[in-house]
Amino acid sequence: MPEQEIPVLVVGGSLVGLTISVLLASHGVPHMLVERHRGTAIHPRAASFHQRTMEILRGIGLQQAVEAAAGREFVQNGAIISVDTLSGKELACFYRSYNEGVEGLSATSRLFITQIGLEPVLRERGRELGADHRYGMEMVSFTQDDAGVAAVLQPRDGGPEQTVRARYLVAADGAHSVVRRQIGIGMAGRGSFADCVTIYFKADLRALIGNRNLSVVYVNQPQLLAFFRFSISGDAGFLAVFATFDKDGTRDSRVDQDLSPDRCAALVRAALGVAADFPVAIDDVQPWSATAATAVAFRRGRVFLVGDAAHLMPPTGGFGGNTGIADAHNLAWKLAMVLEGSAGPRLLDSYEPERKPQCEMIVEQAYARYVKRVDQSLPATDLAPVLDDAAIELGSVYSSDAILDEEQGLRTAVLLEDPRHPSGRPGTRVPHIVLHRNGAAISTHDLARSRYALLAGRRGHHWTQAAKALAAAGITLSAHRIAADGDLADPAGCFENTVGIGAEGALSKPQCQARLGDFALPRLCFFG
Ligand SMILES: Cc1cc2nc3c(=O)[nH]c(=O)nc-3n(C[C@H](O)[C@H](O)[C@H](O)COP(=O)(O)OP(=O)(O)OC[C@H]3O[C@@H](n4cnc5c(N)ncnc54)[C@H](O)[C@@H]3O)c2cc1C
Repeated sequence: MPEQEIPVLVVGGSLVGLTISVLLASHGVPHMLVERHRGTAIHPRAASFHQRTMEILRGIGLQQAVEAAAGREFVQNGAIISVDTLSGKELACFYRSYNEGVEGLSATSRLFITQIGLEPVLRERGRELGADHRYGMEMVSFTQDDAGVAAVLQPRDGGPEQTVRARYLVAADGAHSVVRRQIGIGMAGRGSFADCVTIYFKADLRALIGNRNLSVVYVNQPQLLAFFRFSISGDAGFLAVFATFDKDGTRDSRVDQDLSPDRCAALVRAALGVAADFPVAIDDVQPWSATAATAVAFRRGRVFLVGDAAHLMPPTGGFGGNTGIADAHNLAWKLAMVLEGSAGPRLLDSYEPERKPQCEMIVEQAYARYVKRVDQSLPATDLAPVLDDAAIELGSVYSSDAILDEEQGLRTAVLLEDPRHPSGRPGTRVPHIVLHRNGAAISTHDLARSRYALLAGRRGHHWTQAAKALAAAGITLSAHRIAADGDLADPAGCFENTVGIGAEGALSKPQCQARLGDFALPRLCFFG
């Protein structure tokens, strides 16, 4: 007999598992998260987090806490450059300042924070919201039937196995996802193309860095391809080594085979451009594989894949964790609506068509950046053109049966739009626009923080009245008319034009569609 019944079981308590846990908790969905490690991340890994991720974190009340934690780890808005050595020549500059050109696109900024810094903030928020997190607990097997999933859990420090039964299982169990393999979902793409190692070291880097604010430093030498990140104190960092080459240019298969402290220190010194007696102490070494692949399905029955369980990409572009967080966001509100009964289970069918094409495109973008920034010896014949970072981060265009678009079928399928020129079309992110409520500034994104919202133009009284009528039918939809005499003013006078509606139009969240059936909202847009 199952010992416990829960609506959702999340397997994996690192970046993406914790994110979906906090999102589910913020929607009031009881769930259990199991993580085989005893605590959150011990390696920094992801550090560059995009505006869309920060918008999602803002939506669960974490923007300030994350910014504060980030400020303790990095001076923000650093450069992303490529050099021959840290003390040598700059070869290319990808960003002089990490937020250049995107400042007005969001109420948030891109920022640098490691998983060591971010995951405890997420875990703490989960706790505050009552989430049930079981660290030191491994899911060892599971079965699923039409009604749910039964999972066997094994405490890492001994003790009896436990069985839980859940209506849905979310696999956030990472690159080697056992869940994905057990349900027979394969990966498609370019596969693994480099055996890499991350070398964590201590060294006095202050004189080498000087007064530069450097977020990521690619090192491009004939015999070494790698990237650095440095601690805020300038006395430690890591070097992620993608490849080494012999003197004759042959790729050196020893990268992940000889991980002795001497060899690692020699690689760090070569990348720094310092003499062989420069003091470098090696703290830790972590091998990993640079891979570009996406799961062929994101769902089987009642099991959903999110994060690295669903897609693997090289770190060039810093997309991996951000993409996983976007998966978590897309799935969490859908699970919440289905479990609370305000949408039918078919809403969950929209997760894969909305997320998988985005993930496939982003995996290819990360690979294209890898070839262009790091290793031009890799096959480049079928390389995707490098697309604008801001469009990848903020310009997703979703298409699924859950999104009502009166022009569906008339448009060519596109995956991205330029967030500087948003279309307002259904399936896109609502642009960030600063409105005023009682004289105080508020972002359009804040209007739908936890529930569903409708934003109507100046003469959109009929929409706000329709929303009130819906409330009587049990659908809570907060409705706002953006007008000088409405509850929200538009001081810049740009709302209607920017979101692409007329004075009588309206925007809403797609969630409404799931329940409203034939109710024909003219513009249904994805919302923050
Ligand atoms: C060097 C490097 C730099 C990177 N930089 C960036 C960056 O700047 N920005 C970015 O967005 N991404 C970056 N990434 C990618 C990012 O780190 C990953 O995409 C992200 O960590 C994936 O998170 P996840 O939660 O999906 O998987 P993971 O972090 O792999 O977590 C999976 C968790 O599941 C647990 N687990 C597995 N099986 C079980 C089980 N059966 N029972 C219980 N628990 C289980 C594991 O213990 C693990 O903690 C980088 C990666 C590397 C290697």
